[in-house]
Amino acid sequence: MGPERTDALPAAPSPAGLRLHGLSVDGVNQCVHCGLCLSACPTFSLLGTEMDSPRGRIVLIKSLAEGRIDLTDSAVEHLSLCLDCRACETVCPAGVPYGRLIEAARAEIERQRPGGPVRRSVRWLNFGLLLTSPRALALVAAALRLYQVTRLQRLVRASGLLRILPGTLAAWEALLPPLPPAADRAPLPEQIPAAGARRARVALLTGCVQQAVFGAHNRATASVLAKNGYEVVIPRGQGCCGALHAHGGDRARAGALARQTIATFEQAGAEAVVVNTSGCGAHMKGYWHLLADDPAWAARARAFSLSVRDISEQLAREPLRG
Ligand code: SF4
Ligand code: SF4
Repeated sequence: MGPERTDALPAAPSPAGLRLHGLSVDGVNQCVHCGLCLSACPTFSLLGTEMDSPRGRIVLIKSLAEGRIDLTDSAVEHLSLCLDCRACETVCPAGVPYGRLIEAARAEIERQRPGGPVRRSVRWLNFGLLLTSPRALALVAAALRLYQVTRLQRLVRASGLLRILPGTLAAWEALLPPLPPAADRAPLPEQIPAAGARRARVALLTGCVQQAVFGAHNRATASVLAKNGYEVVIPRGQGCCGALHAHGGDRARAGALARQTIATFEQAGAEAVVVNTSGCGAHMKGYWHLLADDPAWAARARAFSLSVRDISEQLAREPLRG
């Protein structure tokens, strides 16, 4: 990775700033309550209630951090309904870092209300096993592919079996994307040479769910980079970037996956880490904030965040070839 440009990131959060059980929510004070974010928010557009808008949720988070309200059922519901899409952050003229605020709130919800054994088991299955183990995820993807390409899926749907599944499992089944064939899900080669004169060496994040569901997109991304003169390295040992854990309030695993991702990509000796999944890219650009309170990792996280580029940012740096 290139040298750290410490001027390109904001200062680390102050230990004396406003915190929600140790997590910085200083950004709440940047909100000037102008309401310009309201029309960009899908939950406000649908529900029309102030507490389901970014501005309302910011007031809730500030009040929680200042100890003026408790985490009631109603507060949990308004905070949980947020999609963490960060559309509000994009349009905010005051630069409120909304994504970081809602992630701190989600962590607080999990701390205070971890739920019963069933909920905790489902969370462990998703966050602790599937998303942290590429092998387990590959097995599940293969099983789901089989379920979809045989008559089993049609049989299950026609039988009414889904109606008796507990919780939201039936809704999950309906949302299943078509799983690609094994050739698309297979890992990419570790290194792909640049076509023509080499411009730079970049490392590609192939991700967790991305490789299982959209492996063909990863291959296309690597191919476009190579055709544009980039030597592409796909580090073995990479996995989930931890974005889903951070969105879901699992701060400890999000931090562990961030450290693992940084260590893996540091070994690649690449100028940049290229990402074709905007959610992962946005999260990895924020590792500097996630690990700001960890003295052993803060500087490495800042250097890493500065090296993360969306595929469009990488390609826009030089004239396109071909
Ligand atoms: S979050 Fe930004 S856009 Fe929304 S009310 Fe606050 S300052 Fe205005
Ligand atoms: S992140 Fe939450 S509050 Fe912001 S626009 Fe999306 S749903 Fe609305």
